[in-house]
Amino acid sequence: MIEANQFKGHEQLVYLHDKETGMKAIIAMHDTTLGPAAGGCRMWPYDNEMDAIADVLRLSRGMSYKNAVAGLDLGGGKSVIIGNPHSDKSEEMFRAFGRMVESLGGKYIAAEDVGISVEDMETVARETSHVIGLSEGEHASGDPSPFTAEGVFNGIRAAVKYKLGKEDMDGMTVAVQGLGHVGYYLCRFLHEAGAKLVVSDIHQPSIDRAVAEFGATVVAPAEILSVDCDVLAPCALGAVLNDDTIPTLKTAIVAGAANNQLARDEHGRMLKERGILYAPDYVINAGGIINVSAEARGKYDVDWVREKVSNIYNTLMTIYRRSDEENRPTNVIADELAEEIIEAGRVRNRAGKAA
Ligand code: NAD
Repeated sequence: MIEANQFKGHEQLVYLHDKETGMKAIIAMHDTTLGPAAGGCRMWPYDNEMDAIADVLRLSRGMSYKNAVAGLDLGGGKSVIIGNPHSDKSEEMFRAFGRMVESLGGKYIAAEDVGISVEDMETVARETSHVIGLSEGEHASGDPSPFTAEGVFNGIRAAVKYKLGKEDMDGMTVAVQGLGHVGYYLCRFLHEAGAKLVVSDIHQPSIDRAVAEFGATVVAPAEILSVDCDVLAPCALGAVLNDDTIPTLKTAIVAGAANNQLARDEHGRMLKERGILYAPDYVINAGGIINVSAEARGKYDVDWVREKVSNIYNTLMTIYRRSDEENRPTNVIADELAEEIIEAGRVRNRAGKAA
């Protein structure tokens, strides 16, 4: 159920019930100080509209923070379509959604998220140009996963330097949970840098590939979080850092791609109290959104993407340092940094208007 405190600085919420198709969708624009509100469209069988609104409010705020800390000229937004992605999709529905996005005149830019494919977004794009994450065309950015993995690798290097005082990854043991799109590329970066890999997945062919290509050691899914290692990289599921798992961790660092790794915000504090350095998920996994956002700038420029992805190292160094100086968890520092960046943008915008 939605509560008043779930509106945290949101600028605009738009609800659409398309009578022709029955589609119900909501677009939330949390903050457009830094640029248009950009964020994925999620299709999910919510029980009711209120649950959908609560989710889109939370997710759009997260996008404002993620885009700000990644150094993008984008605000934060998100959209949800209420429905079952396996049975409720139709061309007309996505075209209606596209017209809804178009009616906002570029204030919201849509991309794929859970339950939505590139093909679905291509249908949306027939009605509006305010879509990113397409696979074809002059501005298409392609698969974001290698860039997400590169950003995670940069964040791991920063953590290893900060926490363990090591300049490189040679001989470091990294436990990787999940060998999917991001986990595989991350293993490749780590292997090439001389790290020892301990891996786990529930999909045997992915495990076989990691063993064959990187000489990885395999453990069962139930064991990966308590492997004795220098770095634990969750690259599969959310909420893996919780009351049950944190006491069992045997790592100095947690730094991986998965979204929403902390079951609750206070688990960031629990990690700090155990002396474990946590790389806030939305900061370290921003390589994908950086790559996709390049489409919003016009012509796709891989050098621009690489520069932003390499800056994840510096941003995380700032967060790690500030966390220790102020004795506050890294996830709290990341949120504050985002708010500071947005506030600075607000001051700039005001000055620009006054001039
Ligand atoms: P994916 O679906 O390709 O890979 C996930 C992998 O985790 C799969 O191989 C799956 O078999 C494995 N897995 C599932 N349950 C597991 C378990 N219990 N133990 C071990 N392995 C398990 O997803 P992805 O695109 O690689 O993304 C991984 C994570 O990173 C997700 O949380 C995603 O939201 C996040 N993320 C991805 C990107 C991106 O660019 N793809 C960007 C930002 C964040």
